[in-house]
Amino acid sequence: MNNKRQVKSRSRFLLTRAAPALGLTLLIGLGVLALLNWAGKEADKASHERQARLVRLVISQLQSEVAHDQESATVWDDAVIEVRAGNFTWIDENLGTWMHDYFGFDGVYILDSSDRALYAFTDGAMASQYAYDAIQSEVEPLAEELRAKLIAGDDGQINELDLTPGVSDLAVIREHPAVVSIKPIVPHSEFVQQEPGQEYLHVAIRFLDGSLIEELQNDYMFEALHFSWTPDGSNQPLTTSEGRTIGYFVWQPYRPGSAVMARVIPVLIVLIVIALAAITIFLTIHDSRSRRLEESEERIRHLALHDPLTDLPNRLSFNENVDRRLAERPVAPLALLYLDLDRFKQVNDTLGHPAGDALIREFALRLQAIVRRDDLVARVGGDEFTVMLNGKGGDEEIGALCRRMVEAAREPFHIAGNTVFLGVSIGAAIFPRDGADRVNLQRKADVALYYSKIAGRGRCSFFSDAMDKTLGLRRRTEMDLRTALLGQNQLSVYYQPVQSALTRRIVGCEALLRWHHPEIGWVSPELFIPIAEEAGLIEDIGRFALTKACAAAAKWPGLSIAVNVSGVELSDPAYAGKVEQVLLSSGLAPARLELEITESVATEVTGAVAENLVALRERGVRIAIDDFGTGFSSLGRLKSLNVDRIKIDRCFVEGLKENAKSKADDKAIIRAIIDLAHARNLRTTAEGVETRAQDDALTAMGCDELQGFLYARPMPLKDMDLLLGIHRNATGRGTAASDGTDSGASV
Ligand code: C2E
Ligand code: CA
Ligand code: CA
Repeated sequence: MNNKRQVKSRSRFLLTRAAPALGLTLLIGLGVLALLNWAGKEADKASHERQARLVRLVISQLQSEVAHDQESATVWDDAVIEVRAGNFTWIDENLGTWMHDYFGFDGVYILDSSDRALYAFTDGAMASQYAYDAIQSEVEPLAEELRAKLIAGDDGQINELDLTPGVSDLAVIREHPAVVSIKPIVPHSEFVQQEPGQEYLHVAIRFLDGSLIEELQNDYMFEALHFSWTPDGSNQPLTTSEGRTIGYFVWQPYRPGSAVMARVIPVLIVLIVIALAAITIFLTIHDSRSRRLEESEERIRHLALHDPLTDLPNRLSFNENVDRRLAERPVAPLALLYLDLDRFKQVNDTLGHPAGDALIREFALRLQAIVRRDDLVARVGGDEFTVMLNGKGGDEEIGALCRRMVEAAREPFHIAGNTVFLGVSIGAAIFPRDGADRVNLQRKADVALYYSKIAGRGRCSFFSDAMDKTLGLRRRTEMDLRTALLGQNQLSVYYQPVQSALTRRIVGCEALLRWHHPEIGWVSPELFIPIAEEAGLIEDIGRFALTKACAAAAKWPGLSIAVNVSGVELSDPAYAGKVEQVLLSSGLAPARLELEITESVATEVTGAVAENLVALRERGVRIAIDDFGTGFSSLGRLKSLNVDRIKIDRCFVEGLKENAKSKADDKAIIRAIIDLAHARNLRTTAEGVETRAQDDALTAMGCDELQGFLYARPMPLKDMDLLLGIHRNATGRGTAASDGTDSGASV
């Protein structure tokens, strides 16, 4: 998987998974924090309210307490009597000092019926009645209020706690915030009379910044509680009944929320960080796992659609691609090619599968170098490839590309120290001319490929309707071949003369099988020999050719006869014996028979093939290696082959033509083959000589014998006889026209 893709998948992961998950977690975390913060603040606020309420409650309690305490002495016959009598000793003892000591009053004043001070108690002792002057401005309005109530007989305030009407308020008394409470001094029984409105008044002062503060601190756990004239921090204003603020109780507020927050928030932050880390780790693991999964899925997908050896698309993927292309209804033509390597099996069998694999890979690379960007190459079988070509340029362009492929396959392959020569056959079908759907096109490309092979391989054929006729051929060939073997006139043997490069005389012939099919016409041995091998007919066919050839050659004085032998025949342990029988019955000297075998057969060192070869050579039959150099193989191999002749393959001789491309290469190879053969005392024959230039070059290089259309094409027996001046009688026996000492004839 490449880098760009990794970066893309990484950023996709960040965008689609990591960012939302982490963001959400962070959001939830922050939300919880905010909620907690809010809850803490609310708790703090509630706590403050509670404390403030408590302060208010304590003050109002204090107010009613003071009033209640006052009544313990102000509602009393004695008090009325003693106050009227001006008994200050009694007054001080019962209404002043006692109340200070017992109830903690900070000041006591007694006013007469005209609201004039009669008695004053302040700073812990009885004082002059003028001490009242210092507080008169604060107290007088309250006293007047109470007097008005008393005159009006307003007893709306009376309940189980209060026996008499009273007035109570907060005020600043001698620089202290204080509760001021006024009660009338009234009799508790009927024995003492009191005219309403004429009562003496008892004024009690209780400072708020004294013992009360301690009480609040200790009983209600207020911290740093104190009185302040100004509001700062957490406070409760002290207001008079008229709504005037006289000062504040200030304290260090109890903040339960903040206290909890101070502990919880760090823990929460740690938890959030842990959660984020855990999520990141989880996502990373999950991501890398899913990426690995994706990658292996990708690999599997790739494997499913590609050939593991060449990494080219496989048949499945090729078909899908073609279907897709065709579905787009292309306006330009599209060519489907089927390619099949020639002689690949031979290489694979001889050099082994690793070499075969290397060859396939190398050819795949060559193919890819030829096709263009919008073309497609696929491997669909062992040595089979298929190509889809954009056919914009028409048949000519497609043809040119095919020719380049054929040439690319002809270039020597250098595999594991060996130089291997192959070839490729191609069949082409064109959309839309040959069909609109893939299956039809592929079938036609296959037919065209088949045609290329019959036509001699190493070429490209475009499908034509005429080819369809031959479609059933392969299937029918086997059947027809059996029929042919039974009959007398379908199979025959042709003879192609071989001449000496030195004397220019015919020194031998190669026997070549011919099959004239009653419907199809001439069928190439290249086509029917492999089928015969597969069908087990090759032994009969081989014997037919050998018998005919030996019989014919027996009449040709001194000429050698070359007969092609299949590897299948040679693997029959009885083969050498059968050849001997044919020789005997034809009367041909074994030394005049030359059997042509392929290189791969010649290299077998053990088994029936090797034993047959040894037995045949012992009897004097000569062995030639046919098509030398095409299979594979380093020339060095030549040294170890136990044979008599090398037949240099036509494809090298081709390169000696005037206008041939790979002239220099082929020339060097031929020279090397000839030199090596001579060093080993082997004779050489060049096949497929068609031009004078080839003849000249081969002769100059010292090739011994020459064979090819330049001298003569394969011909039927009677033509050969004619050429040699042989007359055969009715029994098929003939006599040489010459006296027999001159074994050669000029062509
Ligand atoms: P081969 O053994 O290489 O035979 C030579 C082939 O080259 C023959 O093809 C021949 O017609 C052709 N040829 C000869 N001179 C020239 C030339 O100048 N130019 C060109 N282009 N071709 C030339 P043919 O007869 O079609 O035989 C094809 C192959 O079939 C033979 O190749 C041989 O491998 C096989 N074959 C033929 N007869 C027999 C047989 O009786 N038994 C066996 N086992 N194989 C046979
Ligand atoms: Ca041959
Ligand atoms: Ca040959």
